[in-house]
Amino acid sequence: MTTTDAAPEAGARLRAVGLKVTAPRLAVLQAVAGAGHLDADAVHARITGELPGTSLQSVYNVLGALTDAGLLRRIEPAGSPALYESRIGDNHHHVVCTRCRAVADVECVVGEPPCLVPGESTGAASGFAIHTAEVTFWGLCADCRVALEASALEASAPEASAAEASALETPAPVASA
Ligand SMILES: [Zn+2]
Ligand SMILES: [Zn+2]
Repeated sequence: MTTTDAAPEAGARLRAVGLKVTAPRLAVLQAVAGAGHLDADAVHARITGELPGTSLQSVYNVLGALTDAGLLRRIEPAGSPALYESRIGDNHHHVVCTRCRAVADVECVVGEPPCLVPGESTGAASGFAIHTAEVTFWGLCADCRVALEASALEASAPEASAAEASALETPAPVASA
């Protein structure tokens, strides 16, 4: 993937939503494309090689304009800065690691909003027409699970190896004919 291949396509996408094609918009769009979930700092770091004079504030402005135009999607998991992604229009959800804040996409079974509707509403909520359900799953990512298991093993190393040793000496009975 080279910038020269991607630039005309990015330009066409900007024009399609009525945005003027500018170097920062092209650079931000290409920086976010296929890069997962990036915060403004990460986008800024990715484009400063190409556009050295670009300020973080202008990256924020461009990200805001591209999000408002529907070319990028913004998510804001609790405890994380706003994250931007190029995967739009499929109503996918996110799973966030409670330990390292890694974010991954989770497919939406329905694929369009709202894929969840609330139960019977009363009072003020009953007047709402629901158009979106924002779903964030929280858990531990694979790397953090490995790290936590390793540190738990380390903390209980003497007991664990003793238990392992005795388990080896007395193998569990194996079912035989
Ligand atoms: Zn993690
Ligand atoms: Zn996503």
